[in-house]
Amino acid sequence: MTDLTSLTLADAREGLTQKSFTALELTDAYLAAMERARVLNAYVLETPDRARAQARAADGAIARGEAGPLAGIPLGVKDLFATQGVRTTACSKILGDFTPPYESTVTSQLWRDGAVMLGKLNNDEFAMGSSNETSAFGPVINPWRREGSEADLVPGGSSGGSASAVAANLCLGATGTDTGGSIRQPAAFTGIVGVKPTYGRCSRWGIVAFASSLDQAGPFARTVRDSAILMRAMAGHDPKDTTSVDLPVPDFEAAVGRSVKGMKIGIPKEYRLDGMSERIEALWAEGADWLRAAGAELVEVSLPHTKYALPAYYVVAPAEASSNLARYDGVRYGARVNGRNIAEMYENTRAEGFGPEVRRRIMIGTYVLSAGYYDAYYLRAQKVRTLIKKDFEDVFAQGVHAILTPATPSAAFGIGEKGQADPVEMYLNDIFTVTVNMAGLPGIAVPAGKDGQGLPLGLQLIGRPFDEETLFALGEVVEQAAGTFTPAKWWA
Ligand code: GLN
Repeated sequence: MTDLTSLTLADAREGLTQKSFTALELTDAYLAAMERARVLNAYVLETPDRARAQARAADGAIARGEAGPLAGIPLGVKDLFATQGVRTTACSKILGDFTPPYESTVTSQLWRDGAVMLGKLNNDEFAMGSSNETSAFGPVINPWRREGSEADLVPGGSSGGSASAVAANLCLGATGTDTGGSIRQPAAFTGIVGVKPTYGRCSRWGIVAFASSLDQAGPFARTVRDSAILMRAMAGHDPKDTTSVDLPVPDFEAAVGRSVKGMKIGIPKEYRLDGMSERIEALWAEGADWLRAAGAELVEVSLPHTKYALPAYYVVAPAEASSNLARYDGVRYGARVNGRNIAEMYENTRAEGFGPEVRRRIMIGTYVLSAGYYDAYYLRAQKVRTLIKKDFEDVFAQGVHAILTPATPSAAFGIGEKGQADPVEMYLNDIFTVTVNMAGLPGIAVPAGKDGQGLPLGLQLIGRPFDEETLFALGEVVEQAAGTFTPAKWWA
């Protein structure tokens, strides 16, 4: 039998239906692979007992002909999703051993459909970062290495554990969250597919909040089809999240393979950065050629406020974070460091519990929201955000169906290589992705090629609100042309 962990999700689903193997066999194959790959530090918690129990239940459902759409599919869950009875930490010391008495809506829908949870995946602390180096559990290692090098590379972030685990065949798919690029950037760094749905498509209930007006959950998978299959289970209206939208959930998988003939695809001229690598520039042009060959029409478009997106994001996101993280005070959740009085207890707990990047965000956020600076920073950033959104609306009003850009300005970099002296160097990773969160739009990152050192690079497609289907159709065209990307296995 072929290695069960190298199947796609769609093939595994077929194999389970045909009874070529059982859900328990598939789950055991993944649990064994996880054990051999602990050096990657992708999982912060493995849940083998629960996984086997869910797999047995899936086998029972398959035998009775009552299988859900994800019956027996082993998945990993970013540690930002609350999982009932299973430790959830957001990879922060401040949550300690917090074990939620409830399940996030998105994960509950995955289990409803029969999926199996293999464990919780590493991420940047409170999802703040682009390299997974801010996690209290230590960095995640990218399964990809530069040709001829043994240097450890970052998988991107903040959903670095999810990306690394999917790329290294340590789960069939994973959940992620994307506030400024945390699904699309790590997907690009690890040669897999990542989808950031339209704001409101997936419920945020039960997901540790970072910046509530930007946060969205989405899937990681090894193919466009697999990501579409997962999206269908994750999406849907939830009365417990007032920002979740009451729209029917389309059969996203049916959009894979749909013709893109006659679609108008925008190439935004403002994304052509000074000093951008020639390889990325070339890949972008190649992507445009692939879409053109599939019958799409490519047009140059303008998103004039693009250059303000990153600075505005780094006002809005920390502002919301400072408010969301006020609840970690040593009283309600997780860790507590005592003091002589309650104020000192709060201070000690927060000083001990939060890592440096989270503390930086809280300070920035508190500053931009404070009396006297609110108008100059926060209010102005909100106005910029409106202009960014309007840029996209204007382009879509010209009949453009989707926009093609690079996913990241570079390939994966080395651990400890970026952002040490200047945090802004790290923030620049999100230059192509934050605009999408600011505008609330859907985006997909699809692996499209390799750089000169053999590392994967991705392209991003940005869609109209609630038109993820077009992104799956276009993403598959890129995938068909570029193929899929598998790292050489050095860790087991
Ligand atoms: N890298 C960005 C940040 O640090 C985005 C993170 C995310 O999308 N969660 O804020």
